[in-house]
Amino acid sequence: MNYSVEIDKYLQLQGFEALQLHAVLFDMDGVLFDSMPYHAEAWSQVMRNAGFNFSKEDVYMNEGRTGADTINTASMAQFGKPATTELIDRLCREKCEIFATYPATPRMPGALELVEKVKACGLTPMIVTGSGTPTLLDRIQSNFPGLFDEKHIVTSFNVKRGKPYPDPYLLALERGGFTQSEAIVIENAPLGVTAGVAAGMFTIAANTGPLKDEILSKAGASLVFPSIEKLCNEWDNLSASLQKR
Ligand code: CA
Repeated sequence: MNYSVEIDKYLQLQGFEALQLHAVLFDMDGVLFDSMPYHAEAWSQVMRNAGFNFSKEDVYMNEGRTGADTINTASMAQFGKPATTELIDRLCREKCEIFATYPATPRMPGALELVEKVKACGLTPMIVTGSGTPTLLDRIQSNFPGLFDEKHIVTSFNVKRGKPYPDPYLLALERGGFTQSEAIVIENAPLGVTAGVAAGMFTIAANTGPLKDEILSKAGASLVFPSIEKLCNEWDNLSASLQKR
């Protein structure tokens, strides 16, 4: 497949001559881990119990937001006012409790191989996630041993404004010492794509959930792959196109 049309469109929009790729910024849930079905189940259950009309699809549409932001967004939409701190704390706790009863989330098929390929071609893999579970670093190190440096992982603990704001991706660039033309973003969710694009980076989506591809393209994804495995299979071809300008 030829990716040059989308790459040229991006370069023109940003006013860049070319990309000098140094880093790949990975989202975590739905990209590195096949965890979204569990998150969707847990969130929709907790939100429905609290009186919100909140389907699993709503979870996917809000994916990337912090827990507090997800609850506030639902509260504004349904009741026209933000949720109280007490409600936010309670629902976040309940969601974590339900999530903890599920089996450990598996790695996304193809994710380990993709990160290994990225590293093998001399690029720095980084993680940018809206998640903030305390066990997150251990889980990353045990599933992707030696592939991610701790200072190259941005979580919800590190930023005030999460996705869809560009802040987490901008912080990742700052931490890595990279500029927009030196990194690309890999996301699976519309708000994550919005954040990557708002941060000025070439953003690739892997549609690992139930939403239509079109939603990811409309959010600004330059390319949409049907899975991480497909993206992994295309990596050599894609990275050559990205760097050959
Ligand atoms: Ca995600």
